[in-house]
Amino acid sequence: MSEERDEPVWRLETSLVHAGERVAAPRAIPTTTPIYTTSTYLYPTLAELDQAFATGEGYLYARYGNPTVAALEAAVAAAEGARGAVAYASGMAALHAAILAAATPRGETAPQPRTILAARDLYGATTVLLEELFVARGATVAYADLCDLDAAEAALADLRPELVLIEQISNPLLRVADVAGLAARCRAAGARLLVDSTLATPVLQQPLRLGADLVVHSATKYLAGHGDTVGGVVAARSSLLHATLARQGRLLGAALGPFEAQQVLRGMKTLALRVERQCASAARVAAFLTTHPAVANVYYPGLTSHAQHTLAAAAFAGRFGGLVSFELRGDAAALQRFVNGLRLFLPATTLGDIYSLVSVPALASHRDLGPARRAERGIAENLVRLSVGIEAIEDLIIDLETALNMV
Ligand code: PLP
Repeated sequence: MSEERDEPVWRLETSLVHAGERVAAPRAIPTTTPIYTTSTYLYPTLAELDQAFATGEGYLYARYGNPTVAALEAAVAAAEGARGAVAYASGMAALHAAILAAATPRGETAPQPRTILAARDLYGATTVLLEELFVARGATVAYADLCDLDAAEAALADLRPELVLIEQISNPLLRVADVAGLAARCRAAGARLLVDSTLATPVLQQPLRLGADLVVHSATKYLAGHGDTVGGVVAARSSLLHATLARQGRLLGAALGPFEAQQVLRGMKTLALRVERQCASAARVAAFLTTHPAVANVYYPGLTSHAQHTLAAAAFAGRFGGLVSFELRGDAAALQRFVNGLRLFLPATTLGDIYSLVSVPALASHRDLGPARRAERGIAENLVRLSVGIEAIEDLIIDLETALNMV
């Protein structure tokens, strides 16, 4: 391959395997990034391959990097104001990778994180991840109300954690943290701040710009937005953390595939439009729910009754997210009647899609916590979480009203 040679005329079986492949990229630049389905890359000479391995520049193997995935990583890094981002096969893989990277002392290779301070209100599987993969291997994990800066400061002083983990906005109670205030306190205490910003999205807030060290997204949710793919991404504020993520990502091996990367990348092009619409509709849904007699408590940062309403209004520039949670009056049978009565809100366990969705955290996202720990965290058995889609708001209200009237 290193010099021009006449190609022999290969036999059919050989030519079927090789003909047409490995031509130079076209001079014209495609307007959208193609899906690169190659699992490996070759260089014209062994010396160049050796050089690529030695410098880390250039593609070598798809678990190390892929141009479609790199395009997504660049898009997320730009959206979050990050030094770099690394994509993973799911949001959980991204969280796992981010926790390991955040616990890596500066310049060294990764041990286990020893001490983690986590918000009490987290996606159920995140709590289970902390406990089954970290506490079980000797780490200490403590939970506190990290929306309360005084409580956060006390816990930081008491625990001296390496890592503080929160969700912005939290799932399922939709609590809002003061990221700038918490980041300053983490920095003073020598802890890294990791924000799972799946629910806020970079449209509402960019935590790295407020001092957080790492941001995680379940790209399955708003970034992809169409209910057709699973993925995750971590964005890092420093080059050091980005390099750590990239190095460890090769070993964790949960690389995002190029098809999924393209779907997330395409989804992100309409992220701002979708989220603006979903926030506006969710505000209408929350206001409607407060008027219905079958509804007990409504959790939505846009309501003045929400504990962090003023903070959220300033932090998210008047938008409050696309999720609304509420407690339904009545027993388990009433809950069944309500969910079964919905036509547009799909009873599926995800959020952030163009479709409206309904879920009961006690049965789905927070099932594994068990009733006692749910109660401790304020997650009632009759809590309903709505993810508002992009359908006509009038139809969504009719759907909710019809189902609530069946309760
Ligand atoms: N983080 C949050 C806030 C979530 O709601 C979820 C999933 O629901 C995850 C992380 C996990 O993401 P994935 O399902 O893509 O692994």
